Amino acid sequence: MKLDEWLSHRLDKTKVSGLYRQLRTMNTAPRPEMVMDGQKQIVFSSNNYLGLANDKRLVYAAETILHEFGVGSSGSRLTTGHTEWHQKLEEKIAGFKQTEAALLFSSGYLANVGVLSSLPGKGDVIFSDQLNHASIIDGCRLSKADTIIYNHVDMDDLEEKLKETKPYQRRFIVTDGVFSMDGTIAPLDKIMSLAKRYHSLVIVDDAHATGVLGENGRGTSEYFSVFPDVVIGTLSKAIGAEGGFVSGSKILIDFLLNHARTFIFQTSIPPSICAASYAALEIIEHSKEKRQLLLSKVKQTKSSLEEMGYVVKGDDTPIIPVIIGDTHKAVIFAKRLQQEGIYAPAIRPPTVAVGESRIRLTVTTDHSSKEIDHLLNSFHFIGKELNIIK
Ligand SMILES: *Cc1c(COP(=O)(O)O)cnc(C)c1O
Repeated sequence: MKLDEWLSHRLDKTKVSGLYRQLRTMNTAPRPEMVMDGQKQIVFSSNNYLGLANDKRLVYAAETILHEFGVGSSGSRLTTGHTEWHQKLEEKIAGFKQTEAALLFSSGYLANVGVLSSLPGKGDVIFSDQLNHASIIDGCRLSKADTIIYNHVDMDDLEEKLKETKPYQRRFIVTDGVFSMDGTIAPLDKIMSLAKRYHSLVIVDDAHATGVLGENGRGTSEYFSVFPDVVIGTLSKAIGAEGGFVSGSKILIDFLLNHARTFIFQTSIPPSICAASYAALEIIEHSKEKRQLLLSKVKQTKSSLEEMGYVVKGDDTPIIPVIIGDTHKAVIFAKRLQQEGIYAPAIRPPTVAVGESRIRLTVTTDHSSKEIDHLLNSFHFIGKELNIIK
């Protein structure tokens, strides 16, 4: 059989099941109003929560170091790819996260895979939230430990499962800090006390919480005033750059540096990006007002949608899932939004449960009141048009 023939047959199946994906081309820098495929759209799906991805201070920091250190880092961290900017950034991250040390990875994805495939070993067990990010799932798959899934943020279910599984050497609980499709905040305080009671270690993936949650934007740990054993994060969301990291004890970092394959066998991120991320963290540490502004925009958007009669899921985070229900309707809804100049994707099964198809909105500090009003207005009449609200 010819490869293309076979693949197009498989792609046909993807299309029939409504899961076919396509790229969209951005013709402008990341900001609320963008040109996508040549069309002006107000974007309500970006992870650029604090507007830093296009911030002049980050651009300047990257540019300066770009001229000094060149484009590529030219090696893995353990060969020639470790510059003083990698070191400075790791120290900055450790300080920001209030841990002894930190380790950079090329992405959050690779940080998760690196931690979960090296830390829990044979004879160990990982308890993983049902809605954890794909990179956690892949990390669990690569790990030699067994994985047990518990219901989403269901502490009774987690406790029951912790109680039932005695024969393992070590137990790990792994969770997103803020869940990317549901906007839920993991009950980290409760997870920490269960971990203590059942002698488990806690790994948190704070991709969406870093820069956003907690008084100083340190993430879910700060939000709940707890100190998990391992905190994973990304530089590619609120921080506005690119790359991933792990923060924790010096020994943990030393262990990962020696054992995490996604750290050892990868070219390090460019020094210019480290400098931009460093600048971002300096800004984030002094962005209390920006975070409050973000939260007030989130609350305003959520309550307005609820007043219209929509079911809005999640806690108060910039991720706002608006339930449409029927998959077909959700797709039409997203198309109608685009006609109104709004980009927000429909999220369908299997990413979410059947009957829970949704429009996933994200709000950032840079969205103007006018842009949010336009969003709400459009939700009002499209919802009526499609018989979702009265
Ligand atoms: C985005 C995301 C990641 C991946 O981070 P990248 O730096 O984009 O690879 C990991 N975990 C969660 C929960 C995420 O939302």
